[in-house]
Amino acid sequence: MIIPTANAMAHLGHLLAKVCPFPCICHLGGDLGVGKTTLVRGFLHGMGYTGIVKSPTYTLVESYPFDQKTIFHFDFYRLGDPEELEYMGIREYFKQDTICLIEWPEKGNGFTPPPDIYISISHDADTRIVDLHAHSEPGKVMIKAYGVLLSSKKLGIAART
Ligand code: ADP
Ligand code: MG
Repeated sequence: MIIPTANAMAHLGHLLAKVCPFPCICHLGGDLGVGKTTLVRGFLHGMGYTGIVKSPTYTLVESYPFDQKTIFHFDFYRLGDPEELEYMGIREYFKQDTICLIEWPEKGNGFTPPPDIYISISHDADTRIVDLHAHSEPGKVMIKAYGVLLSSKKLGIAART
């Protein structure tokens, strides 16, 4: 799909939050500045978070607790050695009651758990092209639910042709 503005990207994140199951591991692929954090910001606001969403570029992870559940926003861009993930106890994050949104998952090599859904974002000037790929049954259900949500709301986000 074509996402023409940063606001539209945040809106996409907002909608994805409405259809995202617990647990869910979501990988965000795409170059620096393509809009991954913008999408996550919209996602967190879609979950009802009203505070500031900081990029976890230096902290590696930011946590957002919601009642009994938690959303973790990771950014592995500055990860020196993927083994650092083992030391930080990465596996503890991927529990039943969490959603993990991961920027630069490839920098974690074999230590990043596989995704339920892979969101790829690419550039075309200011316009962005976003594709959703399911990698599990819950991921497939999520993408289907997103399609239903979109058509029911007739939001006018142009389908990719
Ligand atoms: P990343 O996390 O992928 O490095 P960010 O979300 O931090 O990227 O930054 C994306 C930048 O691009 C922001 O400054 C945003 O305002 C800008 N931008 C311009 N057009 C778009 C678009 N269509 N979608 C998302 N971001 C856009
Ligand atoms: Mg980012």
